[in-house]
Amino acid sequence: MAVNSHQAAVAERTPVTAWDAQGVRRDFPILAQRVHGKPLVYLDNAATSQKPRAVLDALLDFYTRDCSNIHRGVHELSERATAGYEEAREKVRTFLGAREAREIIFVRGATEAINLVAWTFGRERIGVDDEVLITAMEHHSNIVPWQILCEAKGAKLCVTPISDSGELRMDEFEKRLNPRVKLVAVAHVSNALGTVNPVEEIVRMSHARGIPVLVDGAQAAPHMKVDVQELDCDFYTFSGHKVYGPTGIGALYGKAALLDEMPPFHGGGDMISSVTFEKTTYNVLPYKFEAGTPNIAGAIGLGAAIDYVGRIGMERIAAHEHALLEYGTRALARVPGLRMVGTARKKAGVLSFVLEGIHPHDVGTVLDREGIAVRTGHHCAQPVMDRFRIPATTRASLALYNTREELDALAAGVWKVKEMFA
Ligand code: PLP
Repeated sequence: MAVNSHQAAVAERTPVTAWDAQGVRRDFPILAQRVHGKPLVYLDNAATSQKPRAVLDALLDFYTRDCSNIHRGVHELSERATAGYEEAREKVRTFLGAREAREIIFVRGATEAINLVAWTFGRERIGVDDEVLITAMEHHSNIVPWQILCEAKGAKLCVTPISDSGELRMDEFEKRLNPRVKLVAVAHVSNALGTVNPVEEIVRMSHARGIPVLVDGAQAAPHMKVDVQELDCDFYTFSGHKVYGPTGIGALYGKAALLDEMPPFHGGGDMISSVTFEKTTYNVLPYKFEAGTPNIAGAIGLGAAIDYVGRIGMERIAAHEHALLEYGTRALARVPGLRMVGTARKKAGVLSFVLEGIHPHDVGTVLDREGIAVRTGHHCAQPVMDRFRIPATTRASLALYNTREELDALAAGVWKVKEMFA
C-alpha cells in the first residue's frame, strides 16, 4: 500500500536519538482531548492502546479505495485487498521474527489464538491423565481454554506458583515438568503484575523434556522486541489492539511442522482445498486456519501499526517505557499506605497497586474525574488477586506516548484520593 503524506511526515519526524514525546503524542489524535475538563491521561494501555493516525488512515484507505473480499476475486479491488492482507501477514512475520509467512495465522486476538491451539493441538495431543502446565499469573484467556479442554479430555491443569514479588517460581516449575505434561502455556508478560517471565529458559527446560510451549505474548508484543526463533517457542500469540492496531485482529505464530499436523479449528470457506458431501480436503497453511471472510481491514490496520512501531523502534519504545516505569514506581512509592502489587526484578510497564483502606473502584472513580484513565478490578486474572489475598488492584499501564508529566498527574491524583478518603 502506498505511503501517504502523513506516514511520510511521521517517518521524517521520527527522532533518531532524542525521544520526541510531543511528536509521538501528536500521532495519536485521541490524546488531545479533555475529559471532565482535564487533559486526558490515558494509562489503560494494557487493556487496549490508542491508535496512531497511520492506522486510522490505513483503515480509511482500505474502506474508501480497496474494499473487497480476498483470495477469490479476479478483479482489481479484490487483488488490492488480497495484496494488502498478505502484506500485513508478512509484516507480522517480520515483527515476530518468524521464519515463514505461513506460520502466521490471523485471528481475532490472543484469546482466539489460545482457543485455536487448545481445540486443534490440544484436542489431538492431550488425553486422559495428561497435564497442561500453566502459571499462577495467567490471564483468564490462558487458563479457561485449558480448563475446558482438560475437563473434556480427563486431563489435569497444573499451575506453577509465583513468589511474593510476582516472579515465577522456577524451582517449582521444574518440579512440575514430568512426562505427563503435554504442553506448557505461559504469559510472556503478566497483565496484572507486569512480570516479564524467563520464557527462553522455560522453553529450553520444557524442550529438554520434549514438551512444546505456547507463549501468550499479549502484554509483551507492545513493549519489547519479540523473536520467536530466538525464543524457540512452539506457539506465540498477541492481540493487535494492544499494539496500537485495530480491535478484532491478532496473530498466532506456530512452527510450521506443528501447524501442518494440526486439524483445522473452524470449518468454512477459504480453509478448504476441495469439498464433496463425502469428504473435504483442507487448504495449505496458513489458510487452513482462516475459515470465512477474515478481518481484512483489521489485518491491514495491524500492518500499519507494525510499520509505525517499527519506524520508532521496539528497543527505543522499551527503553522509554522502562524509564517511565521506574519514574512512576518512585512517584507512587511516596504515597503513604500505597502498596505495589508486582515488584518483580524484570517488569514491563504495569503499575498495579492497592491503597490501604480504600477500594480500587473508588481510586479509579476519583482518578477519572481528574481525566486519568486507569483500570480497577481483577484484570481478568482472579487467581493473581487470590494469590495476594486482595479483591482487586488499581492498574496504570504504560504505552509509548505516555510522559513523566502524566505519571506526576497520576501520583497527584492518588494523593487526592488519600485526602478524600482520610
Ligand atoms: N493474555 C494477556 C496476558 C492479556 O493481558 C490479555 C488481555 O488483556 C489477553 C491474553 C487476551 O487478549 P484479547 O482480549 O485481546 O484476546
